[in-house]
Amino acid sequence: MNDTLRGVVVPLVYLLSAALFIFGLKRMSRVRTARSGNAVASLAMLLAVVGTLVELGHIDYRWILAGLAVGSAIGAVVAARVPMTSMPELVALLNGFGGAASTLVALSVYWVDVVEPGRVGTAASVMGGAGAATAVLSVLIGTVTFSGSLVAFGKLKGTLSGNPVLLPGRHVLNVLLLLGTLGAGTWFGFYAAEPSTGVALVLAMTGVALVLGVLLVLPIGGADMPVVVSLLNSYSGVAASATGFVIGNNLLIISGAMVGAAGLILTRIMCVAMNRSLVSVVMGGFGGEEAAAAGGKEEYTNVRSAGAEEAAMVLEAASSVVVVPGYGLAVAQAQHAVRELADLLQKRGARISYAIHPVAGRMPGHMNVLLAEADVPYEQLVEMEQINPEFHNTDVVLVLGANDVVNPAAETKTDSPIYGMPILEVHHAKTVFVVKRSLGSGYAGVKNELFEYPNTMMIFGDAKKVLQDLVSELKHL
Ligand code: NDP
Repeated sequence: MNDTLRGVVVPLVYLLSAALFIFGLKRMSRVRTARSGNAVASLAMLLAVVGTLVELGHIDYRWILAGLAVGSAIGAVVAARVPMTSMPELVALLNGFGGAASTLVALSVYWVDVVEPGRVGTAASVMGGAGAATAVLSVLIGTVTFSGSLVAFGKLKGTLSGNPVLLPGRHVLNVLLLLGTLGAGTWFGFYAAEPSTGVALVLAMTGVALVLGVLLVLPIGGADMPVVVSLLNSYSGVAASATGFVIGNNLLIISGAMVGAAGLILTRIMCVAMNRSLVSVVMGGFGGEEAAAAGGKEEYTNVRSAGAEEAAMVLEAASSVVVVPGYGLAVAQAQHAVRELADLLQKRGARISYAIHPVAGRMPGHMNVLLAEADVPYEQLVEMEQINPEFHNTDVVLVLGANDVVNPAAETKTDSPIYGMPILEVHHAKTVFVVKRSLGSGYAGVKNELFEYPNTMMIFGDAKKVLQDLVSELKHL
């Protein structure tokens, strides 16, 4: 392809790719269209890669093919093997890799443009002021994202303790480290004329940014980790966008900005749904085993329990049933069993809906994906705001492995860590069955007042087993 043609084709491919990214992202905002949105975004990514290869022209494809083969193989194996419950830690890891990629690209541009040709002069004089400044930002944000994401991954996986690690004077230390990296970055970009000094400074900046990423995430408790992962996702987008400026690639600037904005919006949605301010999440200290231990000390005095037979009889007589899925449903992998029970009840004339709390499970959309896997009709999934007024007229609520998201203490107990968190108001229904293995607490580690309500009955057991028992009881009625 000649240069003139390339000058026309490449921007057009990039434009199409950017439009498809936006279109794909839009489709991902609805459960019904999310799968196709993902496919559209993948196509946009493919176009972006092809456009970049065409733009580069004569290059050695061997490295590119080797990278593609290795990356695709690892990606395919990981995607096939990772269970839904481990998805947040996988996302954390992928964010970290995104940050690391931005850092490496910015460093390699500096190396190729300045160090390798042995050019004397500051990074700014060779790469341009904007080039040097964005390279510094890319390295700084990309590296913080990388090391912070690794800590988040460790906390979610349980390799590191979920407890907040609160170092004395940590805020001052973090501010000093941030100023240190910015200082080294400014010196590197605008004042270090000798390549050897430049290399030393950029390495120092990267090292300090690595430490800063670790220290920023360590004080944050396990319960807030998904919010942090979403925030780091936003950072990885900003780093990619900065790298787009470094290499002069418009598409990277656009797609990075979209990831940055989407991550920030998601972070906000999660904070609102958990009644946490972003500042309090970032400052750290909430969640982890300490909170769980505190909750575990509280005793339950008046709990009623039922068996599958009794529950099946109540369900059989119900004309409206609302299922509340939670983290335990994902752990038990009971999505197919709940679908089977719902089908059975529907055949007997009951109206079935699923009440979806925005932070049920361990990541946004967790329950939607889980239920979609069992082909639960989308129309039956109802958001919290829409279903809450309906509970007054609901015969039976079946809470399946959910805990915090149905805890009335969020409305009544001002000293509770979850006070103010919007909940599914299931306690207004005529009868509530709570299916879980014990009276143990949920992620927030607090006592659940719902278990002692007069209209609540516990069904103790693994969610899948209980659902299977309910199905077989109903079949015999
Ligand atoms: P919870 O973590 O509150 O409760 C889950 C319950 O599931 C546990 O109490 C556990 O009780 C039960 N359980 C575990 N395994 C099984 C099983 N095999 N069968 C039956 N029950 C089981 O979950 P929720 O979904 O109600 O709430 C989500 C929590 O996670 C909230 O605190 C939310 O703030 C937090 N969070 C969510 C995020 C998101 O994006 N979704 C992000 C960050 C935090 P037992 O051990 O007795 O069985």
